This record gives sequence, structure tokens and C-alpha cells, in this order.
Amino acid sequence: MDKKIDIPAIHEKDLKQVLSDLGILEDLQEGKLFCVNCCKLITWDNLFALKVVENKLVLFCDEADCVDNSTEK
Ligand SMILES: [Zn+2]
Repeated sequence: MDKKIDIPAIHEKDLKQVLSDLGILEDLQEGKLFCVNCCKLITWDNLFALKVVENKLVLFCDEADCVDNSTEK
């Protein structure tokens, strides 16, 4: 089952906790995460959505194309 987390729905202070729970907080802070759609570096400023696809966590930046992609299925 796919699970999608919309970042705009999360309070900013809760976002750190969510990322920490997922084990990717350090990766984000160290610039190791990339948008699954356009391969752009994910930062606090452009992180749009998190999604679990086939048990793998993927992230989307806030580019229009990626936003569209993140809301598919
Ligand atoms: Zn992107």
C-alpha cells in the first residue's frame, strides 16, 4: 500500500520529527536526497512530498512536474 505524506499538511516543527522517524533527517541536512522525478537536490525549501512506493521512500521537489507526479495514483 502506497503511503503519501503531503508536506504542506505538516507543521514545520513536525516535519523534522517526521523526517527523523523516517531516518532521513540527516540525509536531508547533508544534501544527500534527490527528487525522484527530476533528480534535483531536495532541501528544506523545495521539499514538497514524501511517498512510499513499493516499500521505498521517495521524495518530490516543488517543481510543477514533480508536484503533478507526486499526486498520481
Ligand atoms: Zn523534482
